[in-house]
Amino acid sequence: MIRNWIKTGAAQVMSGTGLDRLAGSLSGAKGGPLIIGYHRVVEDFAYSAKTSIPSMLVSLRMLEQHLDWIGQRFRFISLDEAGARLEGRDSRKDPVAAITFDDGYRDFFDHALPLLKRKGIPAAVFVVTDLVGAGRVQIHDKLYLLLARRFKPNRGVKTPYQATRALIEGSSQTEIEAVIQTMESEAPIPEDTFRPFYSLTWEMLDEIRRAGMTIGSHTRTHVLMTKESGQRVREETVGSRKEIEERLGTSVQHFAYPSGVFNRAAVDAVAAAGYRFGYTTCSHQDARRPLLTAPRTLLWENSCLDSHGLFSGSILSCQIHRAFDLLSGCRQIHCQPGE
Ligand SMILES: [Zn+2]
Ligand SMILES: [Zn+2]
Repeated sequence: MIRNWIKTGAAQVMSGTGLDRLAGSLSGAKGGPLIIGYHRVVEDFAYSAKTSIPSMLVSLRMLEQHLDWIGQRFRFISLDEAGARLEGRDSRKDPVAAITFDDGYRDFFDHALPLLKRKGIPAAVFVVTDLVGAGRVQIHDKLYLLLARRFKPNRGVKTPYQATRALIEGSSQTEIEAVIQTMESEAPIPEDTFRPFYSLTWEMLDEIRRAGMTIGSHTRTHVLMTKESGQRVREETVGSRKEIEERLGTSVQHFAYPSGVFNRAAVDAVAAAGYRFGYTTCSHQDARRPLLTAPRTLLWENSCLDSHGLFSGSILSCQIHRAFDLLSGCRQIHCQPGE
């Protein structure tokens, strides 16, 4: 609570005086198009947060508040147009923003798409191709559901999300699957619990594409690219691109790193797979390949709330300018010198 008061007060002072932009530049954020990332879009945040990782949720109402605030200050553009800015083909300097959604959840189709169409906002969806139309859930969602049921806080790990993140960041997908299998055999989860987590179908994606949205890749199975072999990373990056192109008859230029995790080898694999643009979830870039490590700001239901629990434009402004990065930014070391 005290932390929230400080955040609210600091945000008001910083955005009122332009200090948010200064703090952003100190923490390493650079100019260029603003690129925002969301995950699931739900009707009722509190209800969905009972089973889902809370920071992957935004309610439709909060999303609209975010978009309205951003739309008053930025011109919404597609990811292709953002790419033109990143490449310097579009040298205009007016503030522009692109909106993206990771993982390809079905609720994008049900909730976000009608809102985006009504507002004329061209967004992008990064899909996990093996899950499209498959009636299976993302590995992180299943792991979280299983861990949350048996979780007991301790000094090092205070929430089931922290436990999920630590397991995912420290293990290969095969290792995580083994953990899931063990927990599932002890206490299975009813199939109905998984339904809200299902992915889009190819038919939905075709409709989304025809509505003017961009479809990008988020690998085949949401692997953490730094934890897998070179061959697996190749299959995930090349395979997902090929499948989207074949299924939708469109060329795929854009890639988002699962969980925002990348290193030099991952960036090189994305380049070799033929992508033109790659998006992270922080402001760190690979100096050799800045277009393949374009910074993105992830937002969720509670990322722009003041001390009264209400939406705050001042805090959104600070998030956009990465003013909080100095305190709570990405701690990953992506590209070791000489790696
Ligand atoms: Zn993801
Ligand atoms: Zn980073």
